[in-house]
Amino acid sequence: MIHDFTYLRPGKVKEALAMLAQHRDGAKIICGGQSLLIIMRQGLVVTEFLVDIKGLDELNFITYDPRAGLKIGATTTHRTIEKSPLIKEKYPVLAAMEEKLASIQVRNWGTIGGNLAHADAAGDPAPVLIALNASVTIASSAGVRSVPLEEFYPGLFETVLAPDEMVTEVLVPPPSARTAAAYQKFNLLESDQGIVAVAVSLSVGDGGVCKDARIVLGNAAPVPIRAKKTERLLIESAPNEEIFAKAGETAAEEADPVADIHASEDYRRHLIAVLTGRLTKEAWEQACQA
Ligand SMILES: Cc1cc2nc3c(=O)[nH]c(=O)nc-3n(C[C@H](O)[C@H](O)[C@H](O)COP(=O)(O)OP(=O)(O)OC[C@H]3O[C@@H](n4cnc5c(N)ncnc54)[C@H](O)[C@@H]3O)c2cc1C
Repeated sequence: MIHDFTYLRPGKVKEALAMLAQHRDGAKIICGGQSLLIIMRQGLVVTEFLVDIKGLDELNFITYDPRAGLKIGATTTHRTIEKSPLIKEKYPVLAAMEEKLASIQVRNWGTIGGNLAHADAAGDPAPVLIALNASVTIASSAGVRSVPLEEFYPGLFETVLAPDEMVTEVLVPPPSARTAAAYQKFNLLESDQGIVAVAVSLSVGDGGVCKDARIVLGNAAPVPIRAKKTERLLIESAPNEEIFAKAGETAAEEADPVADIHASEDYRRHLIAVLTGRLTKEAWEQACQA
């Protein structure tokens, strides 16, 4: 049962921030409601005020600038990102990830800001966006700050957001030369969240060696984590089958997965090894052709 609350519908971002500041601990943002309503119905979230930001058109945008990169407004839906010709062209891994996130119905209503702020370790966008070195812009009535997405999650279902703060946009740097990214989740049911997921971004440098690597494991720890030992293994190497396999083994060691009804800890580590091996190879081959 959902407990009673007062529903607030700001018309502008400024108004929404003022409402959050006024009610602080007693207010909760709702956007698409695809995650929040479930936990409210379960009684896990009880709030006095619900601030509905879904109608804030100021935050519904996708823009690209060759120097600044990609900006996605917080209320942009998953479906809009998936279908964006600009994102398909410049950040194909992002569009491909969105295509596998939930069902079309959920994607039509759920938003990127809501997904990131929900902080589910099994969420799809965060690992991909961290691999792309994204940051989030956070606003309150006191001002605006930017936080690398990698530092946005202090713990399971936690973010660095203060009660009066709101995510306003996601910023992804422009794609680097000779760089490619790949993402895959392993799920038992189509459109479901992943038992584990891996996102990889690799750059080719002079002489065919790997210049840069960002490898992010999803649902393999309480928060999305960079597999930094695995990245170091790849950087300055000329990746081959042996290194891809070793990257998989190393990533599995770096993971900190739990056992639950979906999979044991060992099975999750096995999946991480397989996915990391596959995706490092895929990203490397694409980067070499870029
Ligand atoms: C059937 C089903 C299947 C799903 N499958 C997947 C899947 O495969 N992969 C996946 O990643 N997700 C999946 N999800 C989760 C879901 O798609 C996202 O979590 C959802 O898109 C969240 O966006 P929302 O706008 O609905 O957020 P809401 O539910 O409205 O809010 C979620 C949380 O974020 C906060 N919030 C919302 N917007 C902001 C903001 N701008 N700033 C600060 N805080 C904010 C809210 O207060 C709340 O705590 C699934 C959900 C359902 C119902």
